[in-house]
Amino acid sequence: MRAIRIHRHGGPEVLQMDHIPPPEPGPGQVRVRVEAAALNHLDIWVRLGQTAPIPLPRIPGSDLAGTIDATGPGVSQTRIGEHIAAYPGLSCGQCDPCRRGEEPLCPQFRILGLQVDGAYAEHTILPASSAMNRPENLTPEQAAASPLVFTTAWHALHTRARLQPGETLLVLAGASGVGTAAIQIGKLLGARVIATAGSPEKLERCRALGADEAINHRNSDYSPRVLELTGDQGANVVLDHIGAETWGRSLASLARGGRMVAFGVTTGASATVQIRPLYQKHHSILGSYLGSRREMAEVMAHIAAGRLKPIVDSVFPLEQAPEAHRRMEQSHHFGKILIKT
Ligand code: ZN
Repeated sequence: MRAIRIHRHGGPEVLQMDHIPPPEPGPGQVRVRVEAAALNHLDIWVRLGQTAPIPLPRIPGSDLAGTIDATGPGVSQTRIGEHIAAYPGLSCGQCDPCRRGEEPLCPQFRILGLQVDGAYAEHTILPASSAMNRPENLTPEQAAASPLVFTTAWHALHTRARLQPGETLLVLAGASGVGTAAIQIGKLLGARVIATAGSPEKLERCRALGADEAINHRNSDYSPRVLELTGDQGANVVLDHIGAETWGRSLASLARGGRMVAFGVTTGASATVQIRPLYQKHHSILGSYLGSRREMAEVMAHIAAGRLKPIVDSVFPLEQAPEAHRRMEQSHHFGKILIKT
């Protein structure tokens, strides 16, 4: 099969096309003929080597849609031919969090394309329970664009921050994959949504997706503008995956009783916290990492019903994976960048 593998860390040029035998599914696993894979920022960290050390070579990619074409021992062959989207997490299935359906709390929690080979290939292997039904009204590209960003945003906003109708939500980087998901989920949950983005065109597209207000974060600090837009109250929930560069401004944008959800560190992983406003204003800082299979099924049901819409920015053939990565690194995209296998 054709597979993009990283043999050494570096720029987009290290995404190398290899011809290798297709993997065989083990006990409890299925093999999937991948039809489309979606990029995530994680893929860039994996390529650059900016994660915990991983063995190389590695096939990157956490998001995929495809068709089951082989099953391992213990998995019914009737599943062959199922059109699926992959749940991007892997967990032990035995521990208390796994039994409660809170897979991201599993001590052995791993992500497809990071600790195990992922989606940038004609075939990949998944636990049978991670090969999830996908809405038949979606193209493979739309289905691959959905799992990681919608599950992440749903878990962060609904489960962790408990976003309520009438509250104000601030979404940083509204044009990113997870940003486009978070704007829509914010509106679905009845919130007023303020998004930030880096160009007039992206601001317009955030508004078209449902954002009530959009702030250009290249021109100005967004926190005074958020206070202005909320009558000096601040946002009840701030969704920040930008990290070091925005941390202080995000906390300064929070209303009394506000919750900030951190789930990424695109600009760096260390920041300081002013403790006094944290306690005086009853702020909460919440960590969030992906979500559960059950949460993925919930968002996929909203997508199937048309209440949430995966946003496909562009589609590249597998051999152009380096170009796809360059597009993401240049931040020219709106929504998800896809690879068609
Ligand atoms: Zn577990």
